[in-house]
Amino acid sequence: MFDQVAHFIGGRPVPEGATFPAYDPMTGEVIRQVHEADSAIVDRAVRAARTAQPAWAALPVGERAAWMRRLADGIEARFDDFVAVEIADTGKPLEQTRTLDIPRGAANFRAFAEIAAQRPEQAFHLPGVLSYTVRRPLGVVAVVVPWNLPFLLMTWKLGPALVAGNAVVVKPSENTPGSAALLAEVCAEIGLPPGVLNIVYGYGATGQHLVSHPGIDGVTFTGSTRTGSTIMRSVADRVKPVSFELGGKNAGLVFADADLDKAVDGCVRSVFTNGGQVCLCTERLYVERPVFEEFTRRLAERATSVTPQPMISAEHRDKVLSYYELAKSEGAVFHTGGGAPGGSGYFVEPTVLSGLGETSRFNTEEIFGPVCHVAPFSSEEEAVELANASDYGLAATVWTTSLNRAHRVAQRLEAGLVWVNTWYLRDLRTPFGGVKLSGIGREGGTQSLDFYSEPTTITMEIS
Ligand code: NAD
Repeated sequence: MFDQVAHFIGGRPVPEGATFPAYDPMTGEVIRQVHEADSAIVDRAVRAARTAQPAWAALPVGERAAWMRRLADGIEARFDDFVAVEIADTGKPLEQTRTLDIPRGAANFRAFAEIAAQRPEQAFHLPGVLSYTVRRPLGVVAVVVPWNLPFLLMTWKLGPALVAGNAVVVKPSENTPGSAALLAEVCAEIGLPPGVLNIVYGYGATGQHLVSHPGIDGVTFTGSTRTGSTIMRSVADRVKPVSFELGGKNAGLVFADADLDKAVDGCVRSVFTNGGQVCLCTERLYVERPVFEEFTRRLAERATSVTPQPMISAEHRDKVLSYYELAKSEGAVFHTGGGAPGGSGYFVEPTVLSGLGETSRFNTEEIFGPVCHVAPFSSEEEAVELANASDYGLAATVWTTSLNRAHRVAQRLEAGLVWVNTWYLRDLRTPFGGVKLSGIGREGGTQSLDFYSEPTTITMEIS
């Protein structure tokens, strides 16, 4: 499917611009040629969105919500195709793609349809004064997304942006164009009004053309902190609103009173899911001294039986391996892994190591691979300090059977998301996002709808 991927502008495929290859990470073979959008193509997409947006915004929210449900139905009708393209682009395991990535894509449209349609408006009443707010969409929103959960993260932004009355121009990752191309087909199949959802493909330069286009009214971005900061500079002169979901260097705290079986199971998931290529994955584990050795041994044993998943690209594989080499040169103890298996594809070994300093590059920079560093701690106070000693603040996990400690520690962690005795469990209504270098703003539920719209407060005297 999709030997050639064309832009989707004004409801039509636009097979224009030079092409670049997309690779299968399992084999390293070229699977598609993708058209690259230059500034002129990006301009056409933004213009198409600007033309379509007023009529879309004028629809009652219930009608936009109905379109979101049609999109979800269209995705479900082509479920197996979505699973196939997402696996071809990313090398994800079938089970994960079938149970998480694609169902969440459809759920993102359904959830925001419900939330938007049921959202109450606000009114404030004082004697003699009535204030109320009306919310208006931003207008045209640039949606720039990464490769690690391509469909899930793209739809997580599209659902609320569209139902709030915006038109969008999406720039998927250069590595993973397939599920976006299929979504364009679904839009055409269900007859979504042309220009409401536009997609342009390309590398960072295409994203840069898009976010700096004067016809863009806001930017929602998920990706690395470095790109987020570049985008912020690009929109600074025009003071456009941004919503940023950025990188992480997430800590996990395992207390001696934890249910160790559950903690090992949970940490295997939180470290190795998706080959460690989830922003929420744990890369720093701190374990209370009495259980440090047993926990580390069991985690390392389990790492050897994790379903292997390739890194997204040769470049990313080399980046992860360079951190393994860095750790070796700094004298780390490898409990398992530390290399790359032979053969084709962009695989690296799941790795557990210890012995590096807290300020080492390995323990401070996001690696985004199937790897974690394990270090012991002696007290709750020390555990919290270690977890918080990071420039990032996306997610953290706490493993303990003490109810009091769970709340006490969770409330002190500098992270947008804290899981206790679990990981990656999500209610789409809850605020999602990070502090410090991990992001700006929150998505999820009404927080997303707040970002994709602006309130006007109207105040009347009642005499
Ligand atoms: P990336 O920042 O390299 O690229 C993300 C997207 O931005 C891609 O589509 C890319 O083409 C585009 N881009 C690159 N340079 C640009 C520029 N100057 N202007 C506009 N767009 C530009 O990130 P990645 O490697 O694709 O994804 C991995 C990163 O994403 C990790 O840091 C990870 O933690 C982060 N991430 C965060 C979350 C979250 O919710 N916080 C979720 C998933 C991934």
